[in-house]
Amino acid sequence: MQRLLPQDCFLCGAPSGSHLLCSACQADLPKHNGPACPICALPTPRGEACGACLAHPPAFGRTLAAFDYAFPVDALLHAFKYGGRLAVAETLADPLAQLASRHSLPDGLVPMPLHPSRLRERGFNQAMELARHLSRRLGIKTLPHLCQRRLNTSPQADLPWKERKKNIRGAFECPADLTGQRLAVVDDVMTTGATVGELARCLQRAGAEVEVWVAARTLEKPHV
Ligand SMILES: [Zn+2]
Ligand SMILES: [Zn+2]
Repeated sequence: MQRLLPQDCFLCGAPSGSHLLCSACQADLPKHNGPACPICALPTPRGEACGACLAHPPAFGRTLAAFDYAFPVDALLHAFKYGGRLAVAETLADPLAQLASRHSLPDGLVPMPLHPSRLRERGFNQAMELARHLSRRLGIKTLPHLCQRRLNTSPQADLPWKERKKNIRGAFECPADLTGQRLAVVDDVMTTGATVGELARCLQRAGAEVEVWVAARTLEKPHV
């Protein structure tokens, strides 16, 4: 178990024991705790629902975000997804579990599915890694096979914001009957919310009540 050996902090190089970050760097991570829309977690002046959620209510009722998508959380997520630093999952999931434990917990966690070809390329699903830690910390089951990603869409990050909803439409399939289930979609980053929104729609159509849990939330307002 490589991560149990004493190591140097990924950010500052100080001894960090068995953790990826030293306690000072962990404490300095930018927590997402300013006033924000309760539905999509986008910052709003007084914590009221944002205009986009009022105009087009999404299929999820609440978003919990542990961190702002800002330095060094962006660098950690990059090292996680593209550098395979799986220890980042624990570093970001633990504070998210703490946040979630202050709310009523859902019945199950649904990690954002990757298309099988993307999963083969990367070797792991970052949302699944986060969900596994959350599941262990909170005692909630992870339901990785509830939904399939049937379209291999262009990466959302490559598209202008207004194209993202169209790109992801119909990307998921959820054959189960989820009547009466409360589920949380788990993902690493929420930007426009188009991808989690589409998965939530799919789960909602199957009868579930859905919320969203993300490690990090972008702070800009989408121009859509
Ligand atoms: Zn450090
Ligand atoms: Zn909102």
